[in-house]
Amino acid sequence: MVKLLIKDLPLLGKRVLIRVDFNVPLTKSGSIADDTRIVEAVPTIQYALDQGAKIILISHMGRPTKGRDPSLSLGICAKRLSQLIAAPVFFAPDCIGKEAEKMANDLKGGEVLLLENLRFHPGEEDPAADPNFARALAQFGDLFVNDAFGAAHREHSSTYTITQYFPDKAAMGFLIEKELSYLNPLVTNPVRPYFAVMGGSKLSVKLDMIKNLLGKVDRLFIGGGMAYPFFKAQDIAIGSSICEDRYIPEAKNLLTQFSQKIRLPLDLVIADAFRSDATFKTIEVKTGIPPGWQGMDIGPQTIAAWSAEFAGCKTLFWNGPVGVFEMPHFANGTNALAQAIAALPMTRIVGGGDTVAAINALNISKSFTHISTGGAASLLYLEQGHLPGVDALTEKT
Ligand code: AMP
Repeated sequence: MVKLLIKDLPLLGKRVLIRVDFNVPLTKSGSIADDTRIVEAVPTIQYALDQGAKIILISHMGRPTKGRDPSLSLGICAKRLSQLIAAPVFFAPDCIGKEAEKMANDLKGGEVLLLENLRFHPGEEDPAADPNFARALAQFGDLFVNDAFGAAHREHSSTYTITQYFPDKAAMGFLIEKELSYLNPLVTNPVRPYFAVMGGSKLSVKLDMIKNLLGKVDRLFIGGGMAYPFFKAQDIAIGSSICEDRYIPEAKNLLTQFSQKIRLPLDLVIADAFRSDATFKTIEVKTGIPPGWQGMDIGPQTIAAWSAEFAGCKTLFWNGPVGVFEMPHFANGTNALAQAIAALPMTRIVGGGDTVAAINALNISKSFTHISTGGAASLLYLEQGHLPGVDALTEKT
Protein backbone atom coordinates (compact mmCIF):
# COMPACT_ATOMS: atom_id res chain seq x y z
CA MET A 1 0.00 0.00 0.00
CA VAL A 2 1.60 3.26 -1.11
CA LYS A 3 0.33 6.27 0.76
CA LEU A 4 -0.06 9.87 -0.32
CA LEU A 5 2.94 11.99 0.74
CA ILE A 6 2.98 15.65 1.71
CA LYS A 7 4.85 16.31 -1.56
CA ASP A 8 1.80 15.03 -3.47
CA LEU A 9 -0.43 17.77 -2.05
CA PRO A 10 -0.87 21.28 -3.54
CA LEU A 11 -0.20 23.41 -0.46
CA LEU A 12 -0.07 27.00 -1.75
CA GLY A 13 -2.58 29.16 0.16
CA LYS A 14 -4.19 26.11 1.75
CA ARG A 15 -4.87 25.50 5.45
CA VAL A 16 -2.80 22.43 6.25
CA LEU A 17 -3.69 20.59 9.44
CA ILE A 18 -0.58 18.70 10.59
CA ARG A 19 -0.71 16.11 13.41
CA VAL A 20 2.73 16.31 15.02
CA ASP A 21 4.11 14.51 18.07
CA PHE A 22 5.19 17.20 20.52
CA ASN A 23 4.85 14.78 23.45
CA VAL A 24 8.29 15.75 24.72
CA PRO A 25 9.70 14.69 28.10
CA LEU A 26 9.62 17.45 30.71
CA THR A 27 11.95 18.19 33.61
CA LYS A 28 10.64 18.34 37.17
CA SER A 29 10.46 22.13 36.85
CA GLY A 30 8.35 21.81 33.68
CA SER A 31 10.83 22.77 30.96
CA ILE A 32 11.58 20.61 27.90
CA ALA A 33 14.08 17.88 28.83
CA ASP A 34 14.62 16.66 25.25
CA ASP A 35 13.34 18.52 22.16
CA THR A 36 14.08 15.72 19.63
CA ARG A 37 10.44 15.28 18.66
CA ILE A 38 10.03 19.01 17.92
CA VAL A 39 13.28 19.13 15.94
CA GLU A 40 12.22 16.05 13.95
CA ALA A 41 8.90 17.68 13.01
CA VAL A 42 10.62 20.72 11.48
CA PRO A 43 11.27 19.34 7.93
CA THR A 44 7.53 18.81 7.35
CA ILE A 45 6.57 22.17 8.87
CA GLN A 46 9.33 23.98 6.96
CA TYR A 47 8.31 22.34 3.68
CA ALA A 48 4.68 23.44 4.16
CA LEU A 49 5.89 26.96 5.00
CA ASP A 50 8.08 27.09 1.91
CA GLN A 51 5.05 26.08 -0.17
CA GLY A 52 3.09 29.05 1.19
CA ALA A 53 0.61 27.08 3.32
CA LYS A 54 -1.17 28.24 6.46
CA ILE A 55 -0.17 25.69 9.08
CA ILE A 56 -2.30 24.46 11.95
CA LEU A 57 -0.47 22.00 14.24
CA ILE A 58 -2.16 19.55 16.61
CA SER A 59 -0.52 17.28 19.19
CA HIS A 60 -1.00 15.63 22.54
CA MET A 61 1.34 15.81 25.54
CA GLY A 62 1.48 13.38 28.44
CA ARG A 63 -1.53 11.72 30.01
CA PRO A 64 -3.84 14.35 31.50
CA THR A 65 -6.49 12.49 33.51
CA LYS A 66 -8.97 15.21 34.41
CA GLY A 67 -9.24 17.48 31.39
CA ARG A 68 -7.19 20.64 31.43
CA ASP A 69 -3.82 20.34 33.21
CA PRO A 70 -1.63 23.47 32.95
CA SER A 71 1.52 21.41 33.60
CA LEU A 72 0.86 19.63 30.27
CA SER A 73 0.23 22.71 28.15
CA LEU A 74 1.83 22.76 24.70
CA GLY A 75 2.68 26.46 25.11
CA ILE A 76 6.36 25.66 25.77
CA CYS A 77 6.49 23.69 22.52
CA ALA A 78 5.17 26.68 20.56
CA LYS A 79 7.99 28.73 22.07
CA ARG A 80 10.62 26.10 21.24
CA LEU A 81 9.31 25.70 17.67
CA SER A 82 9.47 29.45 17.10
CA GLN A 83 13.23 29.24 17.83
CA LEU A 84 13.67 26.50 15.22
CA ILE A 85 11.80 27.99 12.24
CA ALA A 86 11.87 31.44 10.64
CA ALA A 87 8.12 32.04 10.89
CA PRO A 88 5.67 33.36 13.47
CA VAL A 89 4.25 30.60 15.71
CA PHE A 90 0.95 31.42 17.43
CA PHE A 91 -0.56 29.36 20.22
CA ALA A 92 -4.29 28.78 20.78
CA PRO A 93 -5.39 28.07 24.38
CA ASP A 94 -7.71 25.26 23.26
CA CYS A 95 -7.78 22.86 20.31
CA ILE A 96 -11.45 23.44 19.49
CA GLY A 97 -13.88 26.32 20.03
CA LYS A 98 -14.37 29.92 18.95
CA GLU A 99 -10.98 31.34 19.93
CA ALA A 100 -8.99 28.64 18.12
CA GLU A 101 -11.26 29.03 15.08
CA LYS A 102 -10.73 32.80 15.00
CA MET A 103 -6.96 32.43 15.31
CA ALA A 104 -6.97 29.85 12.51
CA ASN A 105 -9.10 32.09 10.28
CA ASP A 106 -6.74 35.04 10.86
CA LEU A 107 -3.69 32.97 9.87
CA LYS A 108 -1.78 34.11 6.76
CA GLY A 109 0.30 32.03 4.36
CA GLY A 110 3.72 31.27 5.93
CA GLU A 111 2.38 31.41 9.53
CA VAL A 112 1.95 28.64 12.08
CA LEU A 113 -0.71 28.09 14.75
CA LEU A 114 -0.24 25.38 17.39
CA LEU A 115 -3.44 24.29 19.16
CA GLU A 116 -3.49 23.30 22.85
CA ASN A 117 -3.07 19.66 24.03
CA LEU A 118 -5.63 17.41 22.31
CA ARG A 119 -5.88 15.17 25.37
CA PHE A 120 -7.52 17.94 27.41
CA HIS A 121 -10.63 16.58 25.64
CA PRO A 122 -11.66 12.94 26.28
CA GLY A 123 -12.79 12.67 22.64
CA GLU A 124 -9.15 12.52 21.54
CA GLU A 125 -8.42 9.14 23.11
CA ASP A 126 -11.98 7.82 22.89
CA PRO A 127 -13.33 8.78 19.45
CA ALA A 128 -16.47 6.65 19.87
CA ALA A 129 -17.49 8.57 22.99
CA ASP A 130 -17.34 11.90 21.16
CA PRO A 131 -17.46 11.55 17.34
CA ASN A 132 -17.87 15.33 17.04
CA PHE A 133 -14.33 15.89 18.31
CA ALA A 134 -12.60 14.56 15.18
CA ARG A 135 -15.05 16.53 13.02
CA ALA A 136 -14.33 19.71 14.99
CA LEU A 137 -10.59 19.23 14.51
CA ALA A 138 -10.99 18.44 10.82
CA GLN A 139 -12.63 21.79 10.07
CA PHE A 140 -9.27 23.49 10.75
CA GLY A 141 -7.74 22.07 7.57
CA ASP A 142 -8.31 21.92 3.82
CA LEU A 143 -5.69 19.15 3.83
CA PHE A 144 -4.43 16.76 6.50
CA VAL A 145 -0.88 15.55 7.11
CA ASN A 146 0.05 13.01 9.78
CA ASP A 147 3.67 13.28 10.89
CA ALA A 148 3.22 12.00 14.46
CA PHE A 149 5.11 8.73 14.25
CA GLY A 150 5.17 8.41 18.06
CA ALA A 151 1.34 8.33 18.08
CA ALA A 152 0.81 6.33 14.86
CA HIS A 153 0.08 3.13 16.82
CA ARG A 154 -3.03 4.78 18.30
CA GLU A 155 -6.54 4.80 16.87
CA HIS A 156 -7.29 8.21 18.32
CA SER A 157 -9.40 11.05 16.88
CA SER A 158 -6.41 13.03 15.59
CA THR A 159 -4.40 10.07 14.31
CA TYR A 160 -7.10 7.83 12.87
CA THR A 161 -10.76 8.92 12.94
CA ILE A 162 -9.99 12.33 11.46
CA THR A 163 -8.87 10.98 8.07
CA GLN A 164 -12.48 10.17 7.09
CA TYR A 165 -12.96 13.91 6.67
CA PHE A 166 -10.08 14.07 4.19
CA PRO A 167 -10.93 11.12 1.93
CA ASP A 168 -8.46 11.96 -0.84
CA LYS A 169 -6.13 14.40 0.93
CA ALA A 170 -4.72 12.77 4.07
CA ALA A 171 -0.97 12.48 3.52
CA MET A 172 2.14 11.27 5.33
CA GLY A 173 4.77 13.75 6.55
CA PHE A 174 8.54 13.43 6.17
CA LEU A 175 9.15 12.08 9.69
CA ILE A 176 6.79 9.11 9.34
CA GLU A 177 8.24 8.48 5.86
CA LYS A 178 11.78 8.46 7.33
CA GLU A 179 10.88 6.24 10.29
CA LEU A 180 9.25 3.64 8.03
CA SER A 181 12.19 3.68 5.62
CA TYR A 182 14.51 2.56 8.46
CA LEU A 183 12.12 0.11 10.12
CA ASN A 184 10.76 -1.51 6.98
CA PRO A 185 13.91 -3.51 6.09
CA LEU A 186 13.76 -5.06 9.59
CA VAL A 187 10.24 -6.27 8.81
CA THR A 188 10.86 -7.47 5.27
CA ASN A 189 14.47 -8.48 4.90
CA PRO A 190 16.91 -7.71 7.75
CA VAL A 191 20.60 -8.14 6.98
CA ARG A 192 21.66 -11.11 9.13
CA PRO A 193 22.75 -11.91 11.75
CA TYR A 194 19.87 -9.87 13.20
CA PHE A 195 19.91 -9.34 16.98
CA ALA A 196 17.47 -7.58 19.29
CA VAL A 197 18.00 -6.29 22.82
CA MET A 198 14.87 -5.84 24.92
CA GLY A 199 14.72 -4.22 28.34
CA GLY A 200 12.27 -2.28 30.47
CA SER A 201 10.28 -2.98 33.55
CA LYS A 202 7.40 -5.20 32.49
CA LEU A 203 7.16 -8.35 30.42
CA SER A 204 3.39 -7.85 30.02
CA VAL A 205 3.88 -4.75 27.89
CA LYS A 206 6.36 -6.37 25.50
CA LEU A 207 5.51 -10.07 25.58
CA ASP A 208 3.76 -10.10 22.18
CA MET A 209 6.69 -8.26 20.69
CA ILE A 210 9.17 -10.71 22.24
CA LYS A 211 7.26 -13.69 20.85
CA ASN A 212 7.11 -12.07 17.44
CA LEU A 213 10.80 -11.12 17.47
CA LEU A 214 11.84 -14.64 18.45
CA GLY A 215 10.44 -15.83 15.13
CA LYS A 216 12.53 -13.26 13.24
CA VAL A 217 15.81 -12.55 15.02
CA ASP A 218 18.91 -14.71 15.36
CA ARG A 219 19.42 -13.71 19.01
CA LEU A 220 17.29 -11.97 21.61
CA PHE A 221 19.00 -10.44 24.65
CA ILE A 222 16.56 -9.85 27.52
CA GLY A 223 17.49 -7.47 30.35
CA GLY A 224 15.75 -5.15 32.83
CA GLY A 225 12.77 -6.09 34.97
CA MET A 226 11.34 -8.31 32.25
CA ALA A 227 14.17 -10.84 32.72
CA TYR A 228 12.98 -11.92 36.17
CA PRO A 229 10.03 -14.14 35.10
CA PHE A 230 12.60 -15.97 32.95
CA PHE A 231 14.84 -16.53 36.01
CA LYS A 232 11.92 -17.66 38.14
CA ALA A 233 10.87 -20.03 35.34
CA GLN A 234 14.24 -21.76 35.92
CA ASP A 235 13.74 -21.85 39.70
CA ILE A 236 16.41 -19.22 40.26
CA ALA A 237 15.74 -17.18 43.41
CA ILE A 238 15.04 -13.50 42.59
CA GLY A 239 14.59 -12.03 46.10
CA SER A 240 12.25 -9.05 45.97
CA SER A 241 12.99 -8.17 42.32
CA ILE A 242 10.19 -6.84 40.14
CA CYS A 243 8.44 -9.83 38.58
CA GLU A 244 5.09 -10.48 36.93
CA ASP A 245 4.48 -14.01 38.20
CA ARG A 246 1.57 -14.68 35.85
CA TYR A 247 4.00 -14.73 32.92
CA ILE A 248 6.28 -17.40 34.36
CA PRO A 249 4.62 -20.30 32.44
CA GLU A 250 4.91 -18.32 29.18
CA ALA A 251 8.57 -17.51 29.96
CA LYS A 252 9.20 -21.21 30.57
CA ASN A 253 7.66 -22.11 27.18
CA LEU A 254 9.76 -19.55 25.38
CA LEU A 255 12.95 -20.76 27.08
CA THR A 256 12.20 -24.33 25.93
CA GLN A 257 11.20 -23.35 22.42
CA PHE A 258 13.94 -20.79 21.76
CA SER A 259 16.78 -21.91 24.01
CA GLN A 260 19.38 -21.26 21.29
CA LYS A 261 18.23 -17.70 20.64
CA ILE A 262 17.53 -16.26 24.09
CA ARG A 263 20.30 -14.66 26.13
CA LEU A 264 19.65 -13.69 29.74
CA PRO A 265 21.94 -11.81 32.15
CA LEU A 266 24.74 -13.93 33.67
CA ASP A 267 25.32 -11.58 36.59
CA LEU A 268 23.36 -8.80 38.23
CA VAL A 269 23.84 -5.71 40.35
CA ILE A 270 21.47 -6.17 43.26
CA ALA A 271 20.40 -3.69 45.94
CA ASP A 272 18.83 -3.92 49.39
CA ALA A 273 16.18 -1.32 48.46
CA PHE A 274 14.73 0.36 45.36
CA ARG A 275 16.60 3.58 46.08
CA SER A 276 19.54 5.38 44.51
CA ASP A 277 21.41 5.38 47.86
CA ALA A 278 20.76 1.67 48.57
CA THR A 279 23.60 -0.74 49.40
CA PHE A 280 24.48 -2.73 46.29
CA LYS A 281 26.70 -5.59 45.12
CA THR A 282 27.24 -7.85 42.11
CA ILE A 283 26.21 -11.51 42.12
CA GLU A 284 26.15 -14.34 39.61
CA VAL A 285 22.63 -15.25 38.49
CA LYS A 286 23.17 -18.95 39.10
CA THR A 287 23.68 -18.32 42.83
CA GLY A 288 20.28 -16.60 43.03
CA ILE A 289 19.31 -13.31 44.71
CA PRO A 290 19.08 -13.48 48.53
CA PRO A 291 15.82 -12.52 50.28
CA GLY A 292 15.46 -8.78 50.84
CA TRP A 293 17.62 -7.92 47.79
CA GLN A 294 16.49 -7.03 44.29
CA GLY A 295 17.99 -7.00 40.79
CA MET A 296 18.67 -3.46 39.56
CA ASP A 297 21.05 -3.83 36.60
CA ILE A 298 23.06 -6.31 34.55
CA GLY A 299 26.60 -6.96 35.81
CA PRO A 300 30.06 -6.67 34.17
CA GLN A 301 30.20 -10.32 33.06
CA THR A 302 26.94 -9.88 31.15
CA ILE A 303 28.12 -6.63 29.59
CA ALA A 304 31.32 -8.32 28.37
CA ALA A 305 29.57 -11.46 27.06
CA TRP A 306 26.77 -9.59 25.28
CA SER A 307 29.14 -6.99 23.78
CA ALA A 308 31.36 -9.81 22.43
CA GLU A 309 28.31 -11.42 20.76
CA PHE A 310 27.15 -8.09 19.29
CA ALA A 311 30.42 -7.91 17.34
CA GLY A 312 29.16 -10.75 15.13
CA CYS A 313 25.88 -9.13 14.13
CA LYS A 314 24.88 -7.01 11.11
CA THR A 315 21.55 -5.56 12.28
CA LEU A 316 20.65 -4.71 15.87
CA PHE A 317 17.39 -3.35 17.25
CA TRP A 318 17.32 -2.10 20.84
CA ASN A 319 14.33 -1.16 22.99
CA GLY A 320 14.32 -0.51 26.73
CA PRO A 321 16.94 0.00 29.47
CA VAL A 322 18.52 -3.12 30.99
CA GLY A 323 18.56 -1.62 34.48
CA VAL A 324 17.15 1.15 36.61
CA PHE A 325 19.22 3.63 34.64
CA GLU A 326 17.63 6.69 36.28
CA MET A 327 19.70 5.85 39.41
CA PRO A 328 23.43 6.40 38.72
CA HIS A 329 24.61 3.21 40.49
CA PHE A 330 22.35 1.12 38.24
CA ALA A 331 22.89 2.87 34.90
CA ASN A 332 26.16 1.15 34.07
CA GLY A 333 24.62 -1.78 32.14
CA THR A 334 22.47 0.42 29.89
CA ASN A 335 25.30 2.91 29.34
CA ALA A 336 27.93 0.23 28.65
CA LEU A 337 25.67 -1.56 26.13
CA ALA A 338 24.94 1.78 24.42
CA GLN A 339 28.70 2.45 24.13
CA ALA A 340 29.39 -1.08 22.86
CA ILE A 341 26.64 -0.89 20.22
CA ALA A 342 27.69 2.63 19.17
CA ALA A 343 31.23 1.39 18.47
CA LEU A 344 30.22 -1.39 16.07
CA PRO A 345 29.92 -1.06 12.27
CA MET A 346 26.41 -2.39 11.77
CA THR A 347 22.84 -1.17 11.31
CA ARG A 348 21.82 0.00 14.79
CA ILE A 349 18.23 1.05 15.35
CA VAL A 350 16.93 2.26 18.69
CA GLY A 351 13.32 2.79 19.69
CA GLY A 352 11.85 3.79 23.02
CA GLY A 353 12.01 6.97 25.07
CA ASP A 354 14.15 5.65 27.94
CA THR A 355 16.77 4.07 25.71
CA VAL A 356 16.93 7.21 23.58
CA ALA A 357 17.29 9.37 26.71
CA ALA A 358 20.24 7.20 27.84
CA ILE A 359 21.92 7.51 24.43
CA ASN A 360 21.34 11.28 24.30
CA ALA A 361 22.77 11.68 27.80
CA LEU A 362 25.95 9.91 26.63
CA ASN A 363 26.07 12.17 23.56
CA ILE A 364 26.49 9.24 21.18
CA SER A 365 23.24 9.48 19.20
CA LYS A 366 25.16 10.25 15.98
CA SER A 367 26.72 6.77 16.14
CA PHE A 368 23.35 5.10 15.63
CA THR A 369 21.81 4.41 12.23
CA HIS A 370 18.39 5.53 13.36
CA ILE A 371 16.86 6.67 16.63
CA SER A 372 13.12 6.31 16.47
CA THR A 373 10.86 9.01 17.92
CA GLY A 374 8.29 6.33 18.80
CA GLY A 375 9.04 3.42 21.13
CA ALA A 376 5.62 1.74 21.12
CA ALA A 377 4.98 2.66 17.47
CA SER A 378 8.31 1.17 16.34
CA LEU A 379 7.61 -2.04 18.34
CA LEU A 380 4.14 -2.40 16.83
CA TYR A 381 5.47 -1.75 13.34
CA LEU A 382 8.16 -4.43 13.74
CA GLU A 383 5.49 -6.80 15.05
CA GLN A 384 2.73 -6.18 12.50
CA GLY A 385 4.37 -4.40 9.56
CA HIS A 386 1.76 -1.66 9.59
CA LEU A 387 0.34 1.05 11.88
CA PRO A 388 -3.25 2.34 12.24
CA GLY A 389 -2.19 5.97 11.81
CA VAL A 390 -0.56 5.14 8.49
CA ASP A 391 -3.25 2.70 7.32
CA ALA A 392 -5.84 5.48 7.68
CA LEU A 393 -4.06 7.81 5.22
CA THR A 394 -5.10 8.20 1.58
CA GLU A 395 -3.79 5.60 -0.82
CA LYS A 396 -1.84 6.90 -3.77
CA THR A 397 -3.55 6.15 -7.06
P1 AMP B 1 9.63 0.45 30.00
O1 AMP B 1 8.82 1.70 30.13
O2 AMP B 1 8.82 -0.79 30.12
O3 AMP B 1 10.54 0.46 28.80
O4 AMP B 1 10.54 0.40 31.27
C1 AMP B 1 11.51 1.37 31.56
C2 AMP B 1 11.78 1.35 33.02
O5 AMP B 1 12.24 0.07 33.38
C3 AMP B 1 12.83 2.31 33.47
O6 AMP B 1 12.20 3.31 34.23
C4 AMP B 1 13.76 1.47 34.33
O7 AMP B 1 14.10 2.07 35.56
C5 AMP B 1 12.94 0.23 34.58
N1 AMP B 1 13.76 -0.96 34.89
C6 AMP B 1 14.75 -1.50 34.18
N2 AMP B 1 15.30 -2.55 34.84
C7 AMP B 1 14.63 -2.68 36.00
C8 AMP B 1 14.75 -3.55 37.12
N3 AMP B 1 15.67 -4.50 37.16
N4 AMP B 1 13.89 -3.38 38.15
C9 AMP B 1 12.96 -2.41 38.11
N5 AMP B 1 12.80 -1.55 37.08
C10 AMP B 1 13.63 -1.67 36.04
